[in-house]
Amino acid sequence: MAILLDGKKLSASLREELKARVEALKARGITPGLGVIRVGDDAASEVYVRNKARMCERLGMHSVVLHLPEDTTQEQLLARIDEMNRDPALHGILVQLPLPPHIQEDAVTARIDPKKDVDGFCSESLGALLKGEPGFVPCTPKGILRLMESAGISLRGKHAVVVGRSMIVGKPVSLLLLSQDATVTVCHSRTQNLRDITRQADVLVAAVGKPQLITGDFVKEGAVVVDVGINRTPDGLLGDVLFDEVQAKASAITPVPGGVGPMTIIMLMENTIEAAERAAQI
Ligand code: NDP
Repeated sequence: MAILLDGKKLSASLREELKARVEALKARGITPGLGVIRVGDDAASEVYVRNKARMCERLGMHSVVLHLPEDTTQEQLLARIDEMNRDPALHGILVQLPLPPHIQEDAVTARIDPKKDVDGFCSESLGALLKGEPGFVPCTPKGILRLMESAGISLRGKHAVVVGRSMIVGKPVSLLLLSQDATVTVCHSRTQNLRDITRQADVLVAAVGKPQLITGDFVKEGAVVVDVGINRTPDGLLGDVLFDEVQAKASAITPVPGGVGPMTIIMLMENTIEAAERAAQI
């Protein structure tokens, strides 16, 4: 039976560490602040944004949530980002994705001041990740690595297979795994014989967005399995991994919910606190 990589539990213990860092900043007269912009009425985004603002509050941080209507133009959105870029009370800025189709995501992420890019999606942040230089690492990939590290899982020399190549999860997590000396294979929708490849994985990261795509026969005995998927289905919230089947073969596995999700939020908080510390030159 696999051990559970419990993101909820780890996030709760990291919360205590982060509270102490917030207190230390406040003692110097600085309250770490996060600005969040949401455009339109995507139901999932509303929940994510609410959870992020709530976590700021729990940690004693400042947050501003701006909810703009669906028909907001790209120029209007960029102007609001400029305002947040200039606001000294905000150390981090996040624009909740997805955006309505008439707005180019790239133009939006590029507009955020790299010093405030706590989501790690701008070219400067992603370039730093590629080069192994200090910078903001995207929150979900960072949380995945932290979860494995806390369970004492060593990645050196392991074959890590990542299913998914998005800019938000698949690509950055592949780079992080590589930086830990794993041998990394990245799969995507055009990959042939996916199952033959995933069965070779010592560490399997599923970031696909297809409910329960990864069944027991995709997994090697003893593999570490990380399920990033959050799929809202008529049967409820499902991951990309068929948990019951896969946990019987895996040595460690993340649950959905309670695995990668809570780690994403806490890493966002960590990045924002780091941004405030950098601004204060701590
Ligand atoms: P994207 O839709 O941007 O990317 C999905 C990736 O999966 C693409 O690279 C796509 O390939 C690949 N893919 C699609 N179908 C298949 C298939 N049948 N076989 C192999 N590869 C396939 O999704 P995201 O990366 O943004 O998110 C992935 C999942 O993770 C979603 O469920 C999302 O909700 C969840 N998520 C969870 C987070 C958390 O905090 N837990 C945070 C972010 C996302 P191609 O490039 O060829 O199209």
